[in-house]
Parts: sequence; C-alpha cells; structure tokens
Amino acid sequence: MPTTDKFSKKVVTTTVINGQPNSENDKLLVKTVETVETVDGFVDDLSPTDIIELKNADQVEYKVEYVWRNIIFFIFMHLCIPYAFIIGAWNLKFYLVAWHTFLGYMAGLGVTAGAHRLWSHQSYKAHWTVRVFLAFWFTLAGQNDIYEWCRDHRVHHKWSETHADPHNATRGFFFSHMGWLMCKKHKMVSVKGRTLKFDDLLQDPIVRFHKKYYKILYLLCVYLIPTYLTVVLFGETWLDAFAQSMVRYCFSLHVTWLVNSAAHMYGYRPYNDKINPRESPFVIYSGLLGEGFHNYHHSFPFDYRASEFGFRYQVNLSCMFIEAMAYLGLAWDLRKASDKVVKSAKLKVKANEVLQEQQQMLDESMQDAEEVVNERSETTKEHQH
Ligand code: ZN
Ligand code: ZN
Repeated sequence: MPTTDKFSKKVVTTTVINGQPNSENDKLLVKTVETVETVDGFVDDLSPTDIIELKNADQVEYKVEYVWRNIIFFIFMHLCIPYAFIIGAWNLKFYLVAWHTFLGYMAGLGVTAGAHRLWSHQSYKAHWTVRVFLAFWFTLAGQNDIYEWCRDHRVHHKWSETHADPHNATRGFFFSHMGWLMCKKHKMVSVKGRTLKFDDLLQDPIVRFHKKYYKILYLLCVYLIPTYLTVVLFGETWLDAFAQSMVRYCFSLHVTWLVNSAAHMYGYRPYNDKINPRESPFVIYSGLLGEGFHNYHHSFPFDYRASEFGFRYQVNLSCMFIEAMAYLGLAWDLRKASDKVVKSAKLKVKANEVLQEQQQMLDESMQDAEEVVNERSETTKEHQH
C-alpha cells in the first residue's frame, strides 16, 4: 500500500499496486503509486440514464442567454493589448516581458499543478505550505475560485462533449475556448453536476478560505499586486503597469482555454480513439506546462504527470514541479497509470486502426468486384443486342 514516507534516493521508491515495476520506475527519485483507481466523476463511460437524459437534452430547444458583464470585460481586456504594446511600448522592454512571463508561469502552475492535478484530480497530496502557494498562484490566473474551477472541471471530464460539459467542444472552437464564459451554462450542466460529489474539496481549509474570500483575493492578485509591483520594481506608470498586467492575464487565459478548445479538436489519439481529446503539439508548446497531452489525460485523469512519460521525455513543467516538491518531501502519494494499462490502451487503438484499414481494403475490393461484374453484364447485354 502507498505510504506517505519521504522518498529515499537509495531505495527503489515506486510502490506498485497495479502493473509491474520497470527500469523507468527504478530511475524515479520520488514515490509514486501506480493505480487505475478513479475518484468520483472521472469514469468517462456514460450510464444508461446519462445517455437517455443527454439524448433528450439534445432535442430540447436551447436558447443562448448572454452574460454581458463577461463579454464587456473580455472586450476591455483585449483592448489592453494594443494599448500596452503601442502606447506603452511594452515590447521594447525585455525585463518587463521576463517579469510578466515569470508571473504568468506562477499563475500557470497554480492552475495546472494546483486546481487541476492536485484539487480536481487528487493525483497527489501536498503539504499545506505548497497548497497555500498553489492557491496564491492560481488566484494570479483569475479563473474563479478553486472550488468552482474544480467543479466545472470534474463535470467536463465526466460528460465531455455533451450538453452537460460546461465547454462542450462539439459546439465549436469559439464556444469551447471562451464562448462558454459569455453565456449561461446549459441546464444539463447543473442537472448532471448535482449528481457528483465535491465534499473532498471543501475538506481542505485552503479551498474553503479561497471560496469565501475569492472576490477580494481576485482584485488583489490579478490587478493590484502585479500592477503595484510593476510600478515599484520597474518604475512604470500605473496605467502602463495595469495594461501590462491585463495582457499577462489575457495571455494566460488563452493558453488555458486552448486546452478546452484546440486539445479537444486537433491532434492525435494514441490512448483512446473513441474520445475527442487529443495529444495536441500546438497546446503542448504554447504553455510548456504539460497540459497538451489531452488524450492521455482524459484516458488516465488521475495521473499526476498528465502525460505518459513525464518531464524527462516530454515538455511538462508541472510534472517537474510536482516531482521537485516530492523530492523535498512536500508532496507524496503521486498517482500514475501503470505501464501495463497504458500499453494495453495503446495496443487497443492500434488494433482498431488495423481493423479499420482491413475493413477499408475489404470495402474497396468489394467495390472493384462490383464494378467488374457490372462491366461484364453490360458487355454481355451489348453482345446480345
Ligand atoms: Zn478536456
Ligand atoms: Zn483534467
């Protein structure tokens, strides 16, 4: 069974529940738990009731109700880009780009290693000091409070590409990217969402605090602190510093949103070809935080790496962060899919491909044969005349 002991460099640190240890595991310096368990809300298979309810929801007329407050805010946020770059001439100052990139990566880690892999998926456990930092960084990203983010995310996993998915990618790129925040959610999101449990989230006092004081934390972390620090540290005017913070905010939102849009539409599916989420090179390289391996992630959502090979062989800064915390003894019980399970998932996809190819070849030869028969019968008819 997994324990919460600190790792030791001298011993093989992988605890195997499901699957066999291999040389890759032996090289790991952190304790990991190989598992195929899922927490509530992460079994992607739909129940018969789900299927009937969602089919009915498809037939119900759905009227889009705009959330004008968000629409106006998004317009304003995007207008800050020309202001910061043209009037504020931000692009000429390398140190400011570096400063906001640094803040952007803190925010990104808050989303990926925090709200996503720690709180939503419980893919590892972390010391309260790490959780406080992750909560602070997550607030820099300005993507709602931790509880709300995780609730939406669990519902997204459970009912992907249906009306119960908050950012249902079958409604198009724009909707799954940011359009879903500009209108009220489909009724099915709350109907199905109510059937999931989120009690575990509220057991964490940090999540409770974040939920209670989110509005004030949002104002402080998204606007006030970054703007103030930019003024004090780099002598920027308040207006320029504010516009730069807005650009950083806007950029980090788009990088996150790409996971819901691009990674559900473009790329390849080596782990499960029956679902829409894909391994998306564009998303992998746009954020570098390891969230673009989305076919893997939807297939094995409890895996702290959110990718098959982690940061050693793939671009995955969040995995690197989590393992660094485990190295320091500040994170433990890192869960991952067993190599055996991953391998069998990949083989299943390959087998499907071979079957499809064979079916296609069979269809083509049947078509050829039909054409030959038709040609012959026509020639026979001509001879008879
Ligand atoms: Zn997804
Ligand atoms: Zn996820």
